[in-house]
Amino acid sequence: MYPAKCAVCDSLLERQERYLCKKCHKKLPLIDGVLSNRCAKCSKEIDMGKSLCLDCQKNKHVFEQAHGVFKYNDVTGKIIAQLKYFGKTGYVEGIAYDMAANTHIIMKKWQPQIIIPVPLHISKLRTRGFNQAGVIADEFAKLYDIACADRILVRTHKTLPQKYFDNVERKRNLQSAFAVNVKELKKYPGVTRVLLVDDIYTTGSTMDACAQALKMAGIKEVYCLCMCIGNGM
Ligand SMILES: [Zn+2]
Ligand SMILES: [Zn+2]
Repeated sequence: MYPAKCAVCDSLLERQERYLCKKCHKKLPLIDGVLSNRCAKCSKEIDMGKSLCLDCQKNKHVFEQAHGVFKYNDVTGKIIAQLKYFGKTGYVEGIAYDMAANTHIIMKKWQPQIIIPVPLHISKLRTRGFNQAGVIADEFAKLYDIACADRILVRTHKTLPQKYFDNVERKRNLQSAFAVNVKELKKYPGVTRVLLVDDIYTTGSTMDACAQALKMAGIKEVYCLCMCIGNGM
């Protein structure tokens, strides 16, 4: 079942429109790798001539590389809110399609063997009913014909929303928040390269905490893909 209304402007969708009307689809803040300069580590848009954003200059990341498809702004923020807080999971197919259509080069470079969504804590999963990263990862994985393993990574304790903290506190807040279910990982023998998927990338501290747990379990390369990413400095 396709959603009937545009996720951004609420107008009725035509048959071929997946989650946005034509007008709003044109407003999607796609970060064009040819036209814009991206941080070599996290892919945030930065000034021409620089290679790393300020965050990545200051923090050494655990993951190999991250990639955000869209800029986080009022348009993408609204889409994520519709999904996350209003449970409009019908929009996910369209979102994943747009993400897949704009990640061919990076996916060819990374060659991940499995896809792992950033998990929610079980109590949050129960109240929300679904994991937004999980549903995005699932649809995205189908389009690339890669297995989506949503039981390998577990959120072991509740963390406060990251928006309340600065960089150092963010890290502390997330320390040992994630663990690997070894039994689940063993279902994928020989896997050394994984792709983590989330909805928003801010400083990368969540991705680092996930990557840390995965690397401790023997994964060699961790790549990160996010629907939206903040601006770099
Ligand atoms: Zn619209
Ligand atoms: Zn960066």
